[in-house]
Amino acid sequence: MAFSFFGGVHPKENKHYACDVPVQDFPAPDLVVIPMSQHIGAPCKPLVKKGDLVTMGQKIGDNAGLCVPVHASVSGKVKAVEPRAHTSGTTMMSVVIENDHLDTLCPDITPRTQEQVDALTPEQLIDIIHEGGIVGMGGATFPTHVKLSGGIGKVDTVIVNAGECEPFITADDRLCREMPEKVIAGLKIVMKIFGLKEGHIGIEDNKPQAAAALREHIVPGDGIILDVLPAKYPQGAEKQLIYAVTGREVPSGGLPAAVGCAVFNAATCKAICDVVYEGMPLIRRIVTVSGDILMEPKNLMVPIGTSFNDLLEACGHSEYPYKVLSGGPMMGAAQYDLSVPTIKGVNAVTVLGRKNEYAVKDPHCLRCGRCIDACPMHLMPVLMYKALESGSVDEMKRNNIMDCIECGCCAYTCPASVPLVLGFRVAKQMIRNEAAKAKAKA
Ligand code: SF4
Ligand code: SF4
Repeated sequence: MAFSFFGGVHPKENKHYACDVPVQDFPAPDLVVIPMSQHIGAPCKPLVKKGDLVTMGQKIGDNAGLCVPVHASVSGKVKAVEPRAHTSGTTMMSVVIENDHLDTLCPDITPRTQEQVDALTPEQLIDIIHEGGIVGMGGATFPTHVKLSGGIGKVDTVIVNAGECEPFITADDRLCREMPEKVIAGLKIVMKIFGLKEGHIGIEDNKPQAAAALREHIVPGDGIILDVLPAKYPQGAEKQLIYAVTGREVPSGGLPAAVGCAVFNAATCKAICDVVYEGMPLIRRIVTVSGDILMEPKNLMVPIGTSFNDLLEACGHSEYPYKVLSGGPMMGAAQYDLSVPTIKGVNAVTVLGRKNEYAVKDPHCLRCGRCIDACPMHLMPVLMYKALESGSVDEMKRNNIMDCIECGCCAYTCPASVPLVLGFRVAKQMIRNEAAKAKAKA
């Protein structure tokens, strides 16, 4: 049974730009830039140096602790190991590879038969997923092997997130339409790791072709349940999806495993399938390049490390972009340097024209309360913003700012254009800084 989560909004979907465009292979560029951090946790240390020759799929960065390896997405020569611009707005140590266009595959990459996969233990599967560099590909980039190993014995419900509620983005929609068998195979591997007989796929009702393709590939008796949910933003947010599918509420500050759930993005499931069956690490992903000024919006299978500039050039634009976002317009991050590379968590590049421009000089809260009605986390955005303005970290904590999922529903509904989400990001950083200072003193 599907439950409807509290709050949320219905922004203009704008999926029509790219939803009917099949995924095309993007030709690997002459140069790729592979950042050493594409996940939550410790950055990788480069395993190669300038002048080294690398093969496609070769591990080129790794580290101890909470870390996920990175791999070369092309074969060629390492041109540099140096800090380069990153979608986070900072610079990041990166391996720059000159593509030799030979696509020489790493000799470690070997496919497995179904019998070989069936013989793997949960521990072996988790190790393969870790070594394959798999992270949450919906944008969160949480290390998948950690979610899996931490959930064993706690998780009784696994959910594939095919919600994709952000406007413009159609990468998962196309994935489910064109490669449903891979999404399902990835889910079955996750079910095996957790020892579950049942698994869910949550999808919004505005993607009927994707739902039909998935349904067609679900074999009766497999234990896979397709949950078609009413389209509402942010249906694809982890906590809202869990509530919609199970009726369980993840407690404040808690993880989904606290209520027996684990959520994996559809693209993550495909990546799990690729590494387990084909031995192929995460070196390319589907990216929707869309927006209101693009000549040809596309869904592209992009080698990791391809620059945003290359992607924009492939789609063309009718005017100079006002804004280029990594992700969609609700949660995406504006980019000021388009040489940034596509990384594992980038599901879209959204390119907006001047008509989207707005500037609010002196936003004053009207006390209308719309932000409170819209917040799917039951928070009080207006009071959270006041806490930020007070500068008191205690006040910010009292208003549960850390529970904000930065979905943007409050800012979307605010008639006064108060920069709520921007403010909450600043407030969260202030809380983290204070915690770090306290830890250093202790
Ligand atoms: S306060 Fe945070 S969680 Fe609530 S609507 Fe605003 S951005 Fe979303
Ligand atoms: S929606 Fe905007 S104007 Fe209305 S209460 Fe919230 S912050 Fe104030």
